[in-house]
Amino acid sequence: MIFKSINPFSTEIIAEHEVLTNAQLNQKLELSESAFKNWRNTSFQERADKMKNLANILREKKEELGLLITIEMGKILSEGISEVEKSAGNCDFYAENAEKMLKDEKYDTPFTSMSVYEPMGAVFAIMPWNYPFWQVLRYAAPAIMAGNVTLLKHAPNVIGCAKAIENAFLEAGFPEGVFQQITIDIAQVESVIASNIVHGITLTGSEMAGSSVASLAGKHIKKSVMELGGSDAFIVLNDADIEKATTVATQSRMLNAGQACICAKRFIVTEKVADEFAALFAQKVRALSQGNPLQIGISMGPLARLDLAEKLSHQLEKALQQGAKLVVGGAQENCNFQPTLIDFVDANNIAFQEETFGPLATIIRAKDENDAVAIANNHRYGLASAIWTEDREKAYRLARKIEAGNVFINSLVRSDPRIPFGGTKKSGYGRELSEVGIKEFMNMKSVIIE
Ligand code: NDP
Repeated sequence: MIFKSINPFSTEIIAEHEVLTNAQLNQKLELSESAFKNWRNTSFQERADKMKNLANILREKKEELGLLITIEMGKILSEGISEVEKSAGNCDFYAENAEKMLKDEKYDTPFTSMSVYEPMGAVFAIMPWNYPFWQVLRYAAPAIMAGNVTLLKHAPNVIGCAKAIENAFLEAGFPEGVFQQITIDIAQVESVIASNIVHGITLTGSEMAGSSVASLAGKHIKKSVMELGGSDAFIVLNDADIEKATTVATQSRMLNAGQACICAKRFIVTEKVADEFAALFAQKVRALSQGNPLQIGISMGPLARLDLAEKLSHQLEKALQQGAKLVVGGAQENCNFQPTLIDFVDANNIAFQEETFGPLATIIRAKDENDAVAIANNHRYGLASAIWTEDREKAYRLARKIEAGNVFINSLVRSDPRIPFGGTKKSGYGRELSEVGIKEFMNMKSVIIE
């Protein structure tokens, strides 16, 4: 079996990648097991030196790797380069902080008692194509600094990125088997989860993929972290700075051609300012330029695959039939989907209920702030949210009422290595990044000495 990598802008086949046979997959699992025996006993200093090397290699090659991202999944080149830089920053962060994050914790007991953190084995990661470097380094840098090893099953359209990441690990001096990319199909996933060397499973992707992989993890009693879909609310209240809110709204919905779990997807605006917000937002969406992602000055490239563009087109068509009003855009040709804004969307509309994974913004009008929060919470997903108001106390009070893993006030929702990241409800469970993220796949062992 062969995976074909197709450039979504030119529609050319860029590369073909052969899927591993079961025997080849077993060899990779065995290599993982032997690598773990040594890697778990290395010092933090040794791991940090190699992780710093990796960060430097990523930065040195950012143009080349950014180009690979653009060619494989279509994001504009500047976004691809920034993604590689951000991934390098995450390697630096864990190189510098893992040791102190994982120090022993002592308890107040009449005898000596403590928790020590120990690596578990291999973390098996199933990752998507939308941030082919960031999603991988986000979980891999902490896992490997903790003394674990990892196996990556990347999305079939970004296997070139997966191979480039593996090569960068080897070039940085990590022993073979510490980071391995495995080109496998879905039918082979269970055998990896079941393998004795695998002790943790992390997946970023759709709710459907998450449900299937979490079931398998449960069946084999393996710890899992799920980063799934989102339909993030972007709440704009009467006293918001509308100029700034619309600038960030455009960025938050349209970056990466709208293909991020934490893109704002539902713009919930109080009635008093809704017309002003809609008019300014429309102006800024109209100003975006779409085209060849390698061309300087272009704001957006194609979607990553034809089926993703067709699905979004279908969602838009149905949303309009269900009463939404088209304000800007709406056209789709091959993988290209025009930056689009629709207004007067209600909670029964498909554009409200389903995740829209592309450059389609929806405005929902709310009566007041309580109504806005109720609309935001009336959803199966709970990944992140934004609230726009000049009243910081009110913002904090409302933030506590929002059912989501992250709430940002007056700013762009984004992930940051220093801050835990993850969702609630159908957006998944567990956390990545920060100290919480590195501890997800560790044995927290209690040691008691009388
Ligand atoms: P998927 O969730 O299908 O793909 C993400 C990763 O999961 C890929 O590596 C995929 O591999 C794998 N996967 C899918 N199904 C299974 C399974 N049953 N068992 C094991 N692994 C699996 O996303 P798509 O690329 O198909 O995109 C569809 C939708 O998913 C998007 O429109 C968007 O709504 C959502 N999505 C959300 C992302 C996020 O960041 N939260 C990222 C990507 C997509 P393979 O391709 O080989 O099936």
